[in-house]
Amino acid sequence: MSRIGRSRVALVGLSLVAVAVATFATTVASAAPASHATPAARKPLAGKIIGIDPGHNGRNWTDPAFLNHQIWNGREWEDCDTTGTQTAGGYTEAQFNFNVATYLRAMLRKEGAKVVLTRPNNDGLGPCVNKRSFIINRAHANVAIDIHADGGPANGRGFTVLEPVADGPNDHVIRTSDDFGAFVHQAFLADTPFRVSDYYGSNGYISRDDLAGLNLTTVPKVLIECGNMPNPEDAALLTSPSIQQKIARALNAAIVRFLTGHWLPGTS
Ligand code: ZN
Repeated sequence: MSRIGRSRVALVGLSLVAVAVATFATTVASAAPASHATPAARKPLAGKIIGIDPGHNGRNWTDPAFLNHQIWNGREWEDCDTTGTQTAGGYTEAQFNFNVATYLRAMLRKEGAKVVLTRPNNDGLGPCVNKRSFIINRAHANVAIDIHADGGPANGRGFTVLEPVADGPNDHVIRTSDDFGAFVHQAFLADTPFRVSDYYGSNGYISRDDLAGLNLTTVPKVLIECGNMPNPEDAALLTSPSIQQKIARALNAAIVRFLTGHWLPGTS
């Protein structure tokens, strides 16, 4: 080793010491104010951003041409959106989705999170399903949930967690989405009266590669079909405000579990 080589090694050694001292100083400096942190900063979801997409919209039915225009979903062309389904009594999926989203938003905010919804109310049209993904991606959400209820056969019951399939844009969030989906599945069984679907998917799960919400996401996300609206027993549950709140509580629990590594006390 030449003298120049030795002095370079010495210099590198010195700078490592300097970095270590600086890091220690920063740690001490940033640790000190923690004891004076506000209660908000200690909430489990403080600093987290959650995306919620309540599927469809209350006035989608007024503009079929808008709904039918084609958007690129990352793998193929797809309708901008649909009206969604409804119960035999005419209670719409769009209303159900928005109610659950509203309950969930309040719960998440209580845990300290910032919440981004893809639509502000249930009185509008759209946005298209690709834009719903972009809204949540642009917000850099830590996790997101698409809330739906299914329009399956009238004799079918139960919930299904829809999970993304790698297609490029979502490549980096497949594993995390699967992890999150497992927590949603577990919380639904623990906190709601719904059991896994008896007509769709397998044990309450299905992979979908044809939905913009899952194909275009760059944040961990699953879509939940909470129940089957044409089924009378599921419809009675889905239209009940107290059950809608239970569903929101289950989703809240799954989100907290995913982001903190712990279930909330008293849930799941
Ligand atoms: Zn839907």
